[in-house]
Amino acid sequence: MSKKKKEHAKAPRTKRRRSKRFAVLQVARATSRKRGFVVVICLILSGVAEGFGLASLMPLIALIGEQSGPPSALQRYMDQILSYLGLPAEPMVLFGILVAGMVVKAILTLIAMSQVGYAVAEVSTKMRMDLIQALLGARWNFFVRQPMGRFATALSVEAGRAGDAYNAMAVFLSHAVQALVYIVIAALVSWEAALLSIGVGAFMVLSLNRLLVAAKRDSRKQTKRTKALIRRLADVLVGIKPMKAMGRQARFAELFTKDIQEINRALRRIVFARHANRALQDPITAVCLGVAVYIALSVFKVPVAELVVMSILLLRIVSHIGKAQQDLQTLQIAESGFFAVRNAIDDSRIAREVTTGTAVPAFERVISLRNVSFAFADTPVIRDVTLDIAAGGVTTLTGLSGAGKTTLVDLMLGLHKPDTGDILVDGTSLSDVDLLRWRNMVGYVPQELILFHDTILNNVTLGQPEFSRADAEQALRQAGAWDFVSAAPEGLDYVVGERGSTLSGGQRQRIALARALVHKPKLLILDEATSALDPVTEGLIVRNVSELSRATGVTVLAISHQASWASVADNVYRVQEGNVIDLSLARGARQH
Ligand code: ADP
Ligand code: MG
Repeated sequence: MSKKKKEHAKAPRTKRRRSKRFAVLQVARATSRKRGFVVVICLILSGVAEGFGLASLMPLIALIGEQSGPPSALQRYMDQILSYLGLPAEPMVLFGILVAGMVVKAILTLIAMSQVGYAVAEVSTKMRMDLIQALLGARWNFFVRQPMGRFATALSVEAGRAGDAYNAMAVFLSHAVQALVYIVIAALVSWEAALLSIGVGAFMVLSLNRLLVAAKRDSRKQTKRTKALIRRLADVLVGIKPMKAMGRQARFAELFTKDIQEINRALRRIVFARHANRALQDPITAVCLGVAVYIALSVFKVPVAELVVMSILLLRIVSHIGKAQQDLQTLQIAESGFFAVRNAIDDSRIAREVTTGTAVPAFERVISLRNVSFAFADTPVIRDVTLDIAAGGVTTLTGLSGAGKTTLVDLMLGLHKPDTGDILVDGTSLSDVDLLRWRNMVGYVPQELILFHDTILNNVTLGQPEFSRADAEQALRQAGAWDFVSAAPEGLDYVVGERGSTLSGGQRQRIALARALVHKPKLLILDEATSALDPVTEGLIVRNVSELSRATGVTVLAISHQASWASVADNVYRVQEGNVIDLSLARGARQH
């Protein structure tokens, strides 16, 4: 197995994402530790405060009604606390404690939940930032293989759902804490009551668990289908013209419909599961409580005051357990968004472009390729190429489509790394060169150029503030685009439409050329950049560019089949099945 192949085989395994178990904990860790700490402490204290308030209910009822039998542990503790505080066990005092407990609980819950609110925003924001950072820093061949719709959904919908997941996690925690506090209080009243509450809660959770599992499955399906839909939409919109022109868009409408209907089905099941869960909790609780009260009254002869308090406790415990389960369900529905974003971040980070070189390139003399070979997976594309591109001149690469011209250029830019051999700028290997600085010296016009839905000015400057309108105008003049730009009523501020669709192909190419010229590059690479132009305009640009080259010393590397480039070129090479043949020698020989 070649090294390359092994890398490819390994890729899915290193990519194998972190486990999705214990989603609650993983979601909880998505925000800063301090904030998480504040939330947890506030929630626990608020549970305790409410418990305190409720605990005063027991002596209160005992005071109002007639006390029969020995006092419960809870009542003894309350009496102790009251005498410690020097407060009389009077109804108004106990009632005061009840109200105070509830107020403190409300305030603490509010603090906790507002922290949760900030955390939710923080989770979405941080995940979005991380994703953008990781994505823009990824290697070139990672982009080539990614459906960009994946990142669009991750950035928009799924980052939002990751925030929802965090919220559900916090609310789940809050209900779990409160259930726990009530169970402790119930245990102080009577451990049988506490056990009974736990039993009822467990019975309810288990009987409704199927709904939870179903919701999780449907939510995964929804995430997957939404992603597919957006990915397809992005694809179709980019390539809509030929489909419309040939009347062949119906097939895509069909595909969309299928995705949308599948999402619809999943959504319906999710909503049903959620409401069924909610709706079934009350009847289950009511039946269990009825049975428990009947047994307590008729078998154990529990006094009414105690029974009232215990019923309240049981209802509260079961309702908190039920709510915690609902939160878990919400979390499981939203968590697929959380994991989708995290996987997108992880994948992009794994594909991070590592540049260790620090040498500052000058490019005064030559770019040299020394025995460079390169293969995509196991398909060799460049075979043992040795080539010098001298600074200052015009070099043309020709060759059949698929011969490897674009790949050769990508190698020179460090977008791909050679499998064997080396590429040197003025004698320094690209692996030692600071690649960002090297690329900053390059003006690049790609084969498939895309303009942004923005003004001509911003399309030329890419929104970089260091370029003035005068810089843009100069670049547009050099690119032979100034005539039609100045003719538009808005001039530089003309908005070119989606992907530049309000301009002709040739006009788009000239704006892309201006974009490559505006930062005064030392190396200008034109990858079939003038192929969409008529011979007259092309000739004009070829003349402009070669004059620019002579005047400013910019090195031009033009990939082209057209004769006009060959006529001004100092060197002409043909790329053929991954080899490079020097045609200037042949040309020179012919001329003699
Ligand atoms: P051209 O000379 O037309 O610019 P390219 O350099 O784009 O040719 O492509 C050379 C060969 O490499 C082609 O056979 C093409 O199919 C293949 N190729 C290009 N890009 C990739 C890629 N990202 N993954 C796999 N194969 C690729
Ligand atoms: Mg090409």
